[in-house]
Amino acid sequence: MSAVMITRKVRKWEKLPGKNTFCCDGRVMMARQKGVFYLTLFLIVGTCALFFAFECPYLAVHLSPAIPVFAALLFLFVMAMLLRTSFSDPGVLPRALPEEATFIEMEIEAANGNVPAGQRPPPRIRNVQINNQIVKLKYCYTCKIFRPPRASHCSICDNCVDRFDHHCPWVGNCVGKRNYRYFYLFTMSLSLLTIYIFTFDIVHVVMREYPFTVLEVLVCFFTLWSVVGLTGFHTYLISLNQTTNEDIKGSWSGKNRVQNPYSHKNIIKNCCEVLCGPAYPSVLDRRGVMQEDSPVSATSAAPYSTSSSSSNPVPQTTKTTAPLIPNEHTPDDAKPSIAASAEKSPSPKEEHPPAPKVPPLASPETDAEASLTKDKTH
Ligand SMILES: [Zn+2]
Ligand SMILES: [Zn+2]
Repeated sequence: MSAVMITRKVRKWEKLPGKNTFCCDGRVMMARQKGVFYLTLFLIVGTCALFFAFECPYLAVHLSPAIPVFAALLFLFVMAMLLRTSFSDPGVLPRALPEEATFIEMEIEAANGNVPAGQRPPPRIRNVQINNQIVKLKYCYTCKIFRPPRASHCSICDNCVDRFDHHCPWVGNCVGKRNYRYFYLFTMSLSLLTIYIFTFDIVHVVMREYPFTVLEVLVCFFTLWSVVGLTGFHTYLISLNQTTNEDIKGSWSGKNRVQNPYSHKNIIKNCCEVLCGPAYPSVLDRRGVMQEDSPVSATSAAPYSTSSSSSNPVPQTTKTTAPLIPNEHTPDDAKPSIAASAEKSPSPKEEHPPAPKVPPLASPETDAEASLTKDKTH
């Protein structure tokens, strides 16, 4: 069967394996489930719209014109922080390439080589030392990598996320290394906005009764408890330099005598690092261009491939023609011809010393895999 590869330029986000959705040619990245995110938008925009429509005109005239101005600024800040958290890469770690995954598997198998068949192999863990504490790196069977410390696999987005905090359906995204501070500023500013609207709703109800105000008071009252509580919880976590994931798992709770190696044991230093530390670039390169090979039948592709200057239309004939050695799986009628061809060229067995126990490989990657096998014995 003859086929020719045609190379097509695609953006890398089109080929990313996780369960994310992308907009604006890869600039915007979110989780696939966005229903609760739309509810968040509706609640914030709806409550603020009612406040601006029914309370602000009265309060601006009878109390101060600064009331709607400050509310508008706070609202814009809340929306900016929400969209920044929702639309960004939380710190997704790229999966291993097939060759990298093969290499890691071979390393693990070499390390577990003496496990008898039928017995469970030991858990795939590597230990690293961070600030005199032993931290375990776990192997991700989906991404085929040993996760960096503090990373975790989000089952909803199907990605490993660096400094994974939690998956937040309210913002429609994971919260991790790259968007945690914006998430915190969102909860903080939303708390302020809720308290602000709640306070002036009460003032409005006292000054003159209004049915919409009562509705807003109810929404704000229930939002207050959850959002202010959440902000308080994250303030506590930041002061300890800890993630929600580590808090739930009790990673640094003192059992096994492992204490948080990331904490500076100083609240101010921890807050500075989490909120004002360096901003990390995305390692996904979502808008990068890659070339994708798509097979096309030779007859239809022939006119293009001859005129193309970039790709090489000549079929690859560089496969080495190694002499075949018949074994027990070779059909009997094929053995004489193989034997004849083997007579013409010297057998590799005569030239080289006996090879170590490497399974017979007939692919062009033989050299690479043989060198990998050599590496693992060191
Ligand atoms: Zn993973
Ligand atoms: Zn997620």
